Amino acid sequence: MVYDPKSKKAEEFINHQEILETLEYAQKNKHNVELIDSIINKAKARKGLSYREAAVLLDCDIKEKNEEIYALAEQIKKDFYGNRIVMFAPLYLSNYCVNGCVYCPYHAQNKVIRRKKLTQEEIEKEVIALQDMGHKRLALEAGEDPVNNPIEYILESIKTIYSIKHKNGAIRRVNVNIAATTVENYKKLKDAGIGTYILFQETYHKESYEKLHPTGPKHNYAYHTEAMDRAMEAGIDDVGLGVLFGLELYRYEFAGLLMHAEHLEAAFGVGPHTISVPRIRHADDIDASSFDNGIDDDVFAKIVACIRIAVPYTGMIISTRESQQCRERVLHLGISQISGGSKTSVGGYAVPEPEYDKSEQFDVSDTRTLDEIVKWLMEMGYIPSFCTACYREGRTGDRFMSLCKSGQIINCCHPNALMTLKEYLTDYASPETKELGLKLIEKEIEKVKSQKVKIIAINHLKEIEDGKRDFRF
Ligand code: SF4
Ligand code: SF4
Repeated sequence: MVYDPKSKKAEEFINHQEILETLEYAQKNKHNVELIDSIINKAKARKGLSYREAAVLLDCDIKEKNEEIYALAEQIKKDFYGNRIVMFAPLYLSNYCVNGCVYCPYHAQNKVIRRKKLTQEEIEKEVIALQDMGHKRLALEAGEDPVNNPIEYILESIKTIYSIKHKNGAIRRVNVNIAATTVENYKKLKDAGIGTYILFQETYHKESYEKLHPTGPKHNYAYHTEAMDRAMEAGIDDVGLGVLFGLELYRYEFAGLLMHAEHLEAAFGVGPHTISVPRIRHADDIDASSFDNGIDDDVFAKIVACIRIAVPYTGMIISTRESQQCRERVLHLGISQISGGSKTSVGGYAVPEPEYDKSEQFDVSDTRTLDEIVKWLMEMGYIPSFCTACYREGRTGDRFMSLCKSGQIINCCHPNALMTLKEYLTDYASPETKELGLKLIEKEIEKVKSQKVKIIAINHLKEIEDGKRDFRF
C-alpha cells in the first residue's frame, strides 16, 4: 500500500508505513532546533501544518520551544475563536449495540448493564429538560443495532427533537454520532437537517483496531475509516473526527488523526469541522487502567496545543469526561466547544437514573450544572456561546471553511455569542450568573468592530428583553 491522501481506500490515506516513518522522523528531529523553529514559523502564518511537521512539534521536548508552541496555540485560539466557547450536551437515545468494542460498556457481551432505548415520548421529556437547562445544540448518540436502532428510528428522533418548542426553548442544531453507515443513510441524515456527523475512529492503528473491535460490523476497519468519505459523498460537509486516547500509542493516533484531516482536505477540499479528544474513562464493566496507553494531563495538553496549531480552522471539542481542572488547562490552548450538565446515560435529564440501575457509557468527571459551567467560564473571561447560526444560514463545508480561514467568521461568531448568551441569561440563568453575564455582554459588545453590526446587535439584545428570540448573523 502506498500513501495517497486523495485515495478513497482507508489503508492508502491512513497509511501505516507512512505513519511509522513520520514517527521516526519526529523522534530523530525532536532536538533539531533549526527545523523546529522553521515549523513554528510556518505555523505562525496560521495556514496549518502537515502531520509530519506537527509530529515533530509533538515530540519536541525542549522546554523553551514547548513554551513557544503553547504560546502560539493560545494566540491562534484567540485569533480564530476569540474568547468564545460553544456549549452543547449529548443525548443518548439507545445503548443497544451489536458490536464488541472492548473499551465501551455497551458492547454486546455485557449482559449486566441496563439496556434502554428512548421512546419518542421519552425523547420529548429529555429535550424539554435540556431546553429548560438552556441548551440549544445537541450531540445524538446511539449504539449500532439494525433491529433496535435502525436509521428510521434515528430520523424520527431528530424530527421529534427539532419539533419541540418548550417555553422559549428550542434545539437548533442536532449533531449526530452514530455508527458508520451507507451513503444512502447519510443522505437521509442530511435531509433530516443534521449539523455535524461525528464518528470517532477510536484508533487509526489497523491491527489494534481489529483487536479492540473483535465482533460486529465495526470490526471492519476499512468500512469504519472510509465513513467520512461516504458522509461527504452524501452531501454532509461538516464532519467531526476523533480518537479515543489511551487505546494505542498517542503519537500514532496524533499522526493518523491529522492524516485523516489532510485526506478530507485533499479529496473533498474541506477538512474536518471538528476534532474531539476523548480519553478513555472507567465505565460499568470497563477498567480504564487496564489499557496500557493512557496519557497524562501534560501529554494531553501538548496534543491539544499541537492540533490547534496544525488545523487552526477546525473546532476542538472536550467533554465532561475530563475534570474541571483539566478542562481549564486546555481551554486556552485550543478547545472551542465543551459540553455541560451532561448525562451519559440513556435518559437521565428528565428523571435521574437510580444509582443501582445505570446505563451510562462512561463516568462523568465534570458533574457541574450548565449554570455552574457558564458562570465558571465567564469568571475566567470566556463568553459561553449557544450559537448555532452557521448551518442554519447555509454556512457549511467549504463556504464555512473559507470564512474561517480568512478569519471573517469572527464577525458572526462574536455578536451571535453575545445574543445567544443574553437569551440564556434571560431565560435560564441563576441571579448571580445573570448579573455576571450582563456585565460581560456590556463590555464585549463594545469590541464588535463593524459599527453597523454593533448597532443591529445592540437592538437585538434589547429585543431579547422584550421576549423576542433567535437572532443571528
Ligand atoms: S463504542 Fe459504540 S459501537 Fe462500540 S460498543 Fe460502544 S456504542 Fe457500540
Ligand atoms: S457563527 Fe458559526 S462558527 Fe461562529 S459560533 Fe456560530 S455556528 Fe459556530
